[in-house]
Amino acid sequence: MLKHFGIVGAGTMGSGIAQAAALSGVDVILYDINDTVLRQALERVKQDFRKGVNRGKLTQEQTTEAFARIHPRTKLSDLKHCELVVEAIIEDLMVKKDLFRHLETDTKPSTILATNTSSLSVTAIASVLRHPERAVGLHFFNPAHIMKLVEVIKGQQTSPEVVQQTVEFAKQIGKTPVVAKDTPGFIVNRVARPFYGEALRLLGENVASVEQIDRIVKDGAGFPMGPFELMDLIGIDVNFAVTQSMYEQYFGEPRYRPHPIQKRMVEAGQIGRKSGQGFYKYEETK
Ligand code: NAD
Repeated sequence: MLKHFGIVGAGTMGSGIAQAAALSGVDVILYDINDTVLRQALERVKQDFRKGVNRGKLTQEQTTEAFARIHPRTKLSDLKHCELVVEAIIEDLMVKKDLFRHLETDTKPSTILATNTSSLSVTAIASVLRHPERAVGLHFFNPAHIMKLVEVIKGQQTSPEVVQQTVEFAKQIGKTPVVAKDTPGFIVNRVARPFYGEALRLLGENVASVEQIDRIVKDGAGFPMGPFELMDLIGIDVNFAVTQSMYEQYFGEPRYRPHPIQKRMVEAGQIGRKSGQGFYKYEETK
């Protein structure tokens, strides 16, 4: 059983992953370059724990213990005792490669280095390592403390032992892992991309409004959330970066073409729930 787990990036995903791991009894070092982001992440965790207690899903004691297991840090070398580190930073290949280079020197040789990338090549991220066999994809879904599914992605050089240990870790923290090949978007994002893309095209052609499309998808097709509600939850910046990355990696495949509406919203800083404004307005930023 793994005891020490590290997370790099305390944004939407990092804070959710921290919750899931801490609740399952794992010690979490939560690292971010930004101290304010770390404080906000802890506040988000606290709020989610409170909701869990109010809904009778968690006890006060469970959440107090779990909260004490999350250790916020701003020095990368504080991850040195971790057996597995997952990064959940910006979806940018160069930035992730640079981080992996540092992680290789700041952790033990046996530490598994995982990426939560939604679309980038695990093989490409691992290529900067002296030991690429220790790198793996560990792709959580949003909200990470609730969604059970995780994709474990075997890069070209990932060792079978690392894949196995990562699968075991996912189970340890209550997730349901599926092993996926290292292809752009893996399984879930490949399936999900047209869900967002077609909705944006319908909107762009004035066929229907945001509210109408979301309502039809929920009431008519039984989805729990509409595409615009989901893009607001994910973060329009993140969703746009993933679409762009998949479009490029599939050599301009029209099915994955990004939409100008998303680009404009990112330029305006209207990136969903976390900014208080996306396709919908939000009272509290989350
Ligand atoms: P986010 O913008 O909410 O958070 C990213 C965090 O990383 C920020 O707190 C930022 O301060 C930090 N950061 C940026 N550069 C850093 C660096 N060099 N070192 C340390 N910290 C750094 O993003 P997110 O939505 O949590 O997404 C993170 C990753 O998870 C991306 O790769 C994304 O594709 C993937 N992902 C996102 C979702 C989703 O629904 N949002 C779902 C699955 C996977």
